[in-house]
Amino acid sequence: MDYTARTETKSDSGPNWGAMLTDVSFLHTKLENDIGVNEVTIEYDKALTEAICDYFDACNQPTLFFVQLDDVDAAGHSFGSRSTEYFDAIATADERLGRIFDAVKRNGLLDDSLFMVTADHGHKIGGGHGRFSMRETNTTIAVRGRTVVSGGKMDSITRTRDVAAIALYALGLERPRVMTARVPANLFVDVRGETRALYKDPLDAATAALAWILT
Ligand SMILES: [Zn+2]
Repeated sequence: MDYTARTETKSDSGPNWGAMLTDVSFLHTKLENDIGVNEVTIEYDKALTEAICDYFDACNQPTLFFVQLDDVDAAGHSFGSRSTEYFDAIATADERLGRIFDAVKRNGLLDDSLFMVTADHGHKIGGGHGRFSMRETNTTIAVRGRTVVSGGKMDSITRTRDVAAIALYALGLERPRVMTARVPANLFVDVRGETRALYKDPLDAATAALAWILT
């Protein structure tokens, strides 16, 4: 599976978390906090991972669960994207994701769950992000689920905002007509790829096109 995707044109966390959860570009975004979302902040990734495992071991069955681990970004800022510290932080995050995956599995939720791992942005060699170089905007979306194509190659126009469309598809919910997020081709066995409806958000389409040209 080729897991490559692009971030929003502003390769920072807020714009990409917003895009993943709502498909709404940072050019427009104004999120609502009163839609029944339970928010928890735990500062350290190790403690956060333990709390998540405890949450699943307490037989909670959320409809949608979103977690953000921070240590990779911190290592990127301090040491840059070619450093040993950065790759070590990715390896540690991978181990923590494995522990969360195991908690989902041992509580019998895996068969009916879609498990997605992505990053909101990359880092420059010297550390930092926010602009549209390939190092900052090339990211990954890895997906595991019952009908995910094994060994496939996700299409090349995949973006972080497509997480929103993938989640809606997995939940069996209809996608709002205004969405520009789409389910990538070759991701699910029973879904054909679609083109992105660029006319629905011309401002985003223009900035994304500019970023592609400049990179
Ligand atoms: Zn950062």
